[in-house]
Amino acid sequence: MIDNIIKQSMTEDVLISSEIASSMHNPLNIKIYDEIDSTNRQMKDNIRKGEAACPDLIIAGCQTAGRGRLGRKFESPQGTGIYMTYKIDPDKAASNPILITSAAAVAVAGAVRQIGFDASIKWVNDIYVNSKKVCGILAESVCNPDGNRYIVLGIGINYSTGKDSFSDEVKNIAGSLYEMDDNNRLPAGAVTRNRLIALVMDNFIDICKNIDSRQFMKQYRDWSMVLKKNIRYQKNGIWTDGIAVEIDDNGALIVETEAGRVLLNTGEISLRLK
Ligand code: ATP
Repeated sequence: MIDNIIKQSMTEDVLISSEIASSMHNPLNIKIYDEIDSTNRQMKDNIRKGEAACPDLIIAGCQTAGRGRLGRKFESPQGTGIYMTYKIDPDKAASNPILITSAAAVAVAGAVRQIGFDASIKWVNDIYVNSKKVCGILAESVCNPDGNRYIVLGIGINYSTGKDSFSDEVKNIAGSLYEMDDNNRLPAGAVTRNRLIALVMDNFIDICKNIDSRQFMKQYRDWSMVLKKNIRYQKNGIWTDGIAVEIDDNGALIVETEAGRVLLNTGEISLRLK
């Protein structure tokens, strides 16, 4: 697969919508912002207002108020990451948000693998490479003025963000796909952000065409970094130990605990490997 991907050596890596669209097999209407508070916030506003010319995909060079789950922050420094939000129309939005999140995790992990990294998925919404979190995913729902429910899918990928660009809190958790050299250049053979965005979006749109079959859940399980592992999870402020024994076809995690089997299927849960 990697041989099929155009690789280029770059001194600079600029986000260009025509370059993304032209390397995709699915059509996509893209809008790029240099800086924005949050791509999810912008997409939700577009939908709430029922804007006719609402793009399918919003991308930003940086986010000043990027968000994770449970009101957490997703740090999004300028020019070194991929911060984007995709609009999922009501006919697809019927699928539940956890399934959309799981599909997005497979799309991102698949794309990152296609360009040569050993990516794995930490239930439910994070992608890891070399034990570092390189991507977060946040699916939210919103209605247009006619009451039709959309899902906005936010994806943040640390592409070449240096450690020093992260806060002290995030430094130990986060990693990037590529490391810049001393002259601020990407490694030879690095795949551009444009190309990586195209791969992620093509993967996701292809999965969505057949999402209700749940076929992609096989890959989700194959690439899971929590299955069969000792974990702890936090629900309603309480931490519980257990073994992650199964991920069902709806994306729910089944944990064997002292009190028996527990099914975790909400966005309100935090999980740690032990
Ligand atoms: P949990 O591990 O508790 O389930 P999470 O990792 O799924 O949480 P998210 O809401 O997806 O949490 O992401 C927000 C968290 O990700 C922040 O609290 C911070 O720890 C971490 N984070 C923030 N910015 C980045 C980044 N650019 N790259 C990687 N991790 C980040």
